[in-house]
Amino acid sequence: MQEYPLSNSLKINEMFETIQGEGSFTGMPAIFIRLQGCPVGCPWCDTKHTWEINPEREQSVQQVLVKQAPDDSWFSETADGILRLFATQGYLAKHVVITGGEPAMYDLRPLTSVLIDAGYSVQIETSGTFEILVDDKTWVTLSPKVNMQGGYEIVDQALARADEIKHPIAMLKHVEELDALLARPATNPAAQIFLQPISQQKRATDLAVATCIQRNWRLSLQTHKYIGIE
Ligand code: SF4
Repeated sequence: MQEYPLSNSLKINEMFETIQGEGSFTGMPAIFIRLQGCPVGCPWCDTKHTWEINPEREQSVQQVLVKQAPDDSWFSETADGILRLFATQGYLAKHVVITGGEPAMYDLRPLTSVLIDAGYSVQIETSGTFEILVDDKTWVTLSPKVNMQGGYEIVDQALARADEIKHPIAMLKHVEELDALLARPATNPAAQIFLQPISQQKRATDLAVATCIQRNWRLSLQTHKYIGIE
């Protein structure tokens, strides 16, 4: 059984510069760091290639960054090494999004602190199924994955640390799941609440729009998918 958090160097599946397409930072230029590994098991996951950390898929930085390797490949890097890579890649964005996979499987305090000290704003996108270990100034986007195949629960510490709760929905039961999470005493009462339709389905979008109006919540669309960027 794997012990968490994963320590030492981070296993990176992808790193690229784009525009943040979702949630409260929508439209902001951002460097995305996608970490390898996720045991949560969402059936509609669009990054299933990040689930397994296969030691045989370790590749060089260059092979992964130019996507010359299978999509479940990864390279290992330290926090300082990642900062150096930003310079060699010529990235211009000053906002960093750490995603996955499930990034909270890792102890992210070294990476988030290095980036914040270097002048970046940092956001982590997590399912809420692991304790979140990040620098205090990190923006935490919690996209709760409730009752998924991996059998993980949403942990109190993640609900308390959330700056933003961005809930994926397709049907009414998902709104009810969110209500149950918001009713938990640990949940940050100041967290911004977003509903995000799953997979751009029309029914899900209609439900999200109606519920946002009713509850005064905000709508999060995966705008990068509508405009065809990463
Ligand atoms: S938590 Fe994220 S990466 Fe993991 S299975 Fe769910 S959607 Fe995919």
